[in-house]
Amino acid sequence: MPTTTDPSIAFLQRPLRLYIDGAFVETDGQLATLNPATGETLAMAPLATEREVDLAVTAAARAFETWRFTPPTQRARLMWSLADLLEANKGEFARLEVLDNGKPLWEAEAVDIALTIELLRYYAGWATKITGQVLPNSIPGMLTISRREPVGVVAAITPWNFPLLEVAYKLAPALATGCTIVVKPSELAPLSTLRLMDLVHEAGFPPGVVNVVIGGPEVGGALVRHPGVSKIAFTGQTATGKEILRASIDDLKRVTLELGGKSPNIVFADADLDAAASGAFGGIFFNQGQACVAGSRLFVEASVADELAERVAEQAKGIRLGSGLDAETQMGPLISQAHRTRVRGYVDAAMQDGATVSAGGADASVAGLDGGFFFQPTVINGVRNDMKVAQEEIFGPVLSVISWKDEDELRALANGVDYGLAAGIWSADTSKALRLAEYLEAGTVWINTYGMFDVAVPFGGRKHSGFGRELGEEAMEPYLHSKSVWVDLQAAVPSAGQGISR
Ligand code: NAD
Repeated sequence: MPTTTDPSIAFLQRPLRLYIDGAFVETDGQLATLNPATGETLAMAPLATEREVDLAVTAAARAFETWRFTPPTQRARLMWSLADLLEANKGEFARLEVLDNGKPLWEAEAVDIALTIELLRYYAGWATKITGQVLPNSIPGMLTISRREPVGVVAAITPWNFPLLEVAYKLAPALATGCTIVVKPSELAPLSTLRLMDLVHEAGFPPGVVNVVIGGPEVGGALVRHPGVSKIAFTGQTATGKEILRASIDDLKRVTLELGGKSPNIVFADADLDAAASGAFGGIFFNQGQACVAGSRLFVEASVADELAERVAEQAKGIRLGSGLDAETQMGPLISQAHRTRVRGYVDAAMQDGATVSAGGADASVAGLDGGFFFQPTVINGVRNDMKVAQEEIFGPVLSVISWKDEDELRALANGVDYGLAAGIWSADTSKALRLAEYLEAGTVWINTYGMFDVAVPFGGRKHSGFGRELGEEAMEPYLHSKSVWVDLQAAVPSAGQGISR
């Protein structure tokens, strides 16, 4: 029997099933999903095999033939219904996210669930606004039209750090454009996605339009290789993204990749240091540092570097760790024991490379939660950009502070990583910040703020952080084909009374 610290979530007491072709499907296999705050099993999730992947893609392909022609107003209404149902159950979803992922409840409420609801409504609005064009051509008597048509079955493969939200980033544009979808959430936090299928069912989506399979790399791999899939929308590690791209080549599937990051958060000496300190703090410790946009390299102009690093370290030491369900908790556990070991390895490597730890640096224990995967919020000083800790994505609450003197040198350092996801700049001189923003190799630059997101503003990476955009109008493009239609307006047509019986 699953154990949970929140008895109000009846969902966890139910046998959990896949969702394929409008039906809840039992599986032979199961996989345990843990509560990272306790290390205990939270629930047994249904484990798919290649067979269920095939059933799901086949159902989605069949449903596509109808869904693509379903009036956009109707698709939009169904999406609105799903958003309304989610809003009506938002407290439960937020708690589920906390139990499965570990994040603080306020964060799950304000970010994960709130943004998921907004996303569904925002893209429901787009369903009726996907237009084509009448194109000018230079051939007399010819009309040329460009149509935009849905690509087909989408495979959405998502990570565990924002479990439901990462699914919504793909589900919402897929549904709005008339695609059908097979979702494979992370095996480490699949519960909110499974619960969402109750609402998809209740909202009345036709069978096969939305399907969910659960499993790890084998199940993801089967989905990627399936010839019935037209587009893969992937978020996860860069190494996985490359593997998926390679596996998609034979069928020339469309692929968008939202991958890792190692984002620079840059502070000029003229910045409002209170704001910069709080931006540096939130930039790295939000979501336990398990955010692709984590501002994990703090570049501070030398004259204020010690002062700023000390402020952030003092704040870090004061962070209250605990269960995400505890209202006092500021930071929850990491996702797993293996991940905590990996994060600790980076801190050890930094110390071996000659850097110094000014806050944290080790596993943390929380009273009453002995089995939890807690890690101390960590600040490392004296980091050089060529150290492992400054080059590789840690995906944990570990901040590297690097001081700089010369702006040309800073530009090279900031861009001197494989990744290109996001960046922050703190300065009282907006013109200077804007000039620097032009040089930064990043999909998003925040000036005097950090980590802002909005449903209407595209987000994505460059370099090893991937390609494609989520959010905004731009995010629908990979879900659409364009088709050029030629009409000869001078072709002989029956004139009135000829060949037409009245
Ligand atoms: P991961 O790559 O280990 O797993 C992501 C998903 O891919 C999971 O569902 C997993 O089961 C599946 N998968 C793994 N191997 C596969 C394979 N060979 N074929 C098909 N599917 C496979 O990533 P993770 O640890 O779950 O997530 C953390 C990573 O996600 C970090 O690198 C983070 O930066 C990145 N991320 C990026 C963004 C972004 O928008 N750029 C957002 C969130 C997270």
